[in-house]
Amino acid sequence: MELDSLSSLEKREILFTDIKNAIEVNWVNHSKLPNNDAIIRSVLNLSDIDSAEARLRRFAPLIKMLFPETVDAKGIIESPLVEVPELRKALNREKIGANLAGKLYMKMDSQLPVGGSVKARGGIYEVLKYTETLAVENGVLESYEDDYCKLASPAAKAFFGTKRLHVGSTGNLGLSVGLVGNALGYEVIVHMSCDAAEWKKEMLRSRGVIVKVYDGDYSEAITKARAESAVDDNAHFVDDEDSKEMFLGYAVAGKRLKKQLRQQGITVDNEHPLFVYIPCGVGGAPGGITFGLRQFLGDNVHCFFVEPTQAPCMLLGMVTGLYNNITVQDVGLSGKTHADGLAVGRPSAVIGDFIKPFLSGIITIKDKRLFEYLRLLWESEKIFIEPSSCAAIHGTVCWSHSREMEDYLEDNNLNRYLENATHIIWATGGGLVPEDIRQELLVKKV
Ligand SMILES: *Cc1c(COP(=O)(O)O)cnc(C)c1O
Repeated sequence: MELDSLSSLEKREILFTDIKNAIEVNWVNHSKLPNNDAIIRSVLNLSDIDSAEARLRRFAPLIKMLFPETVDAKGIIESPLVEVPELRKALNREKIGANLAGKLYMKMDSQLPVGGSVKARGGIYEVLKYTETLAVENGVLESYEDDYCKLASPAAKAFFGTKRLHVGSTGNLGLSVGLVGNALGYEVIVHMSCDAAEWKKEMLRSRGVIVKVYDGDYSEAITKARAESAVDDNAHFVDDEDSKEMFLGYAVAGKRLKKQLRQQGITVDNEHPLFVYIPCGVGGAPGGITFGLRQFLGDNVHCFFVEPTQAPCMLLGMVTGLYNNITVQDVGLSGKTHADGLAVGRPSAVIGDFIKPFLSGIITIKDKRLFEYLRLLWESEKIFIEPSSCAAIHGTVCWSHSREMEDYLEDNNLNRYLENATHIIWATGGGLVPEDIRQELLVKKV
């Protein structure tokens, strides 16, 4: 049967069946709105991102002092945007057949200082925000204009030493929260799912972080973390499933990327579209980044999330309209994936509904491809990123074989401008993967 003759209800039915059967899908979001319309019903806006960015600037002198790797960037935790022409060539070869016009870049959050992943945006921002509030309320800082380096004094550290940070993590969030929390003097307790990579647990413990591992998946680890934190008066819970602060920390990326694009002479306008592909777990990181990009670059940026076929929690929540009231296990999927950072069965409680008017679509990827892309990137560019990040590479490939995606180009009047397009693969992590694990991953087949 021709797809054209199918009603939207029938198409939805086919999509739902494919998702349940762990078949790769390309879902275009027909609820996307022009930014000016979307922002009207939004509880956050551009000025919230500006104030988050200002907070990060207030903390920059302290970050520079605590983390010497940020000295060159004056205490601003940011990553480079690099062109990857050899990867583009490799993806366009017949074997993969991406057929990509325009230019291909990578946003190297895998190289972000203090954790080596995108979590250094949201996780660290939340800890800093909490720290600032505590410090001002308790006289550790006199005001928001005070010298934030005071927060590294022995007296301040002793004060923060009476406080605990709890966080649920598949690994990377624990690393960023653990590193910054420890540096400030907090006791940090990371609650992890059984899927978390062994080396991440070891690295955390070696840095003095308390690690608790549960038999269940990520959703269970977060539930345990939330419960433990709730009965502790001196604890703060970094809630990956429901945090406005983390979201804003991620959204700052939009403002910073706009500046980087300008510096590199990359135009984004009606005739120069920008396509961005971001791996999605609970949705906080890709949601925040998408929101930030839409606020600072408007309607000419097209953001797609990428999820594993066995853990497409955000996609499932969106197409059913049930958001965090449905899990991938509810439809018979395992939630298990080698993309450990994306091994999430239930999406965030707040992101799905919020981000829907800003998002272009969600695509899914089979685990097998993660390792093909991992090798391809290494062979073509000598860049290593972790399997979860490799999901984003699939965004470049989905255009060549999908009716849905062809329709997206048509509906958004983009076909004429594809030669002028810029594509960005958001490399969300991998900077801290130990050498022996890298070698294992580079030869891994599933
Ligand atoms: C956490 C993570 C993501 C996804 O972020 P969410 O906020 O969980 O959606 C993607 N890639 C890597 C490497 C991560 O660690």
